[in-house]
Amino acid sequence: MILILGGTGEARALASRVPAVSSLAGRVSNPALPAGKVRIGGFGGVDGLAQWLRDNDVHAVVDATHPFARQITANAFEACSRVGVPLLILRRPGFTPQPGWRWVDSVAEAALDLPGERVFLTTGRQDLAEFAECPQWFLARMVEPPEPPMPQHIEVLLSRGPFTVDGELELMRSREIDVLVTKDSGGSMTSAKLEAARRLGVPVVIVRRPPLPPAETVADVDAAVSWLGTAGA
Ligand code: NAP
Repeated sequence: MILILGGTGEARALASRVPAVSSLAGRVSNPALPAGKVRIGGFGGVDGLAQWLRDNDVHAVVDATHPFARQITANAFEACSRVGVPLLILRRPGFTPQPGWRWVDSVAEAALDLPGERVFLTTGRQDLAEFAECPQWFLARMVEPPEPPMPQHIEVLLSRGPFTVDGELELMRSREIDVLVTKDSGGSMTSAKLEAARRLGVPVVIVRRPPLPPAETVADVDAAVSWLGTAGA
């Protein structure tokens, strides 16, 4: 059996092309479900995942999780090494860098020195706490409602996308945004905000991706399908 660690559009695209079980963390209440079999919820760390791989006779794992889902990627590498199951990481490329972007290593670092007063924040619900002490005004867009702590001055916008450049221009103009803070998630679905920021001359603070474990890595679904063919899975 093939296990796809999901939660991304790439994971859903892969699941529509190969017979597999997709795994979701269960973070969102109404997830976009992949084709085929789906399991939902954590495995219980490396030990739990390793056991699950054994119990379900898994022949190959594709980690198609979000570029910032650092823990599950580390766990998958460790569990697959332990059980001897081939692992492929499927990671879409990051955004094409633009001159003038300020790169930071973490969301916490982004919060330390924001070059603006009206911040468009798209780093996600789990990172909102990092900005709790910031005096600026925030427009924070995310999929699920956030829980405290969060900034005092905030408008929360619940939306899953996709987003268009025109829509992002309208949003950023209407809220008088003067800085965009985002992660280097990559993907065309979320790049519209960067194009809108460029057109409006709004500075961008962008969080670098965490490093990947030393597993074979591909950038698109076609390459993952080929790898699964050669892995005999
Ligand atoms: P994370 O910090 O790397 O993982 C935390 C824990 O959540 C893991 O240790 C694991 O629990 C469980 N988990 C994560 N992904 C899982 C999966 N696909 N299947 C089963 N369990 C999973 O992950 P995260 O950043 O919270 O992201 C959670 C999910 O949302 C991921 O699947 C990711 O693809 C998706 N997502 C994340 C972001 C983001 O910005 N981080 C954005 C969009 C989508 P156990 O240790 O108990 O196994």
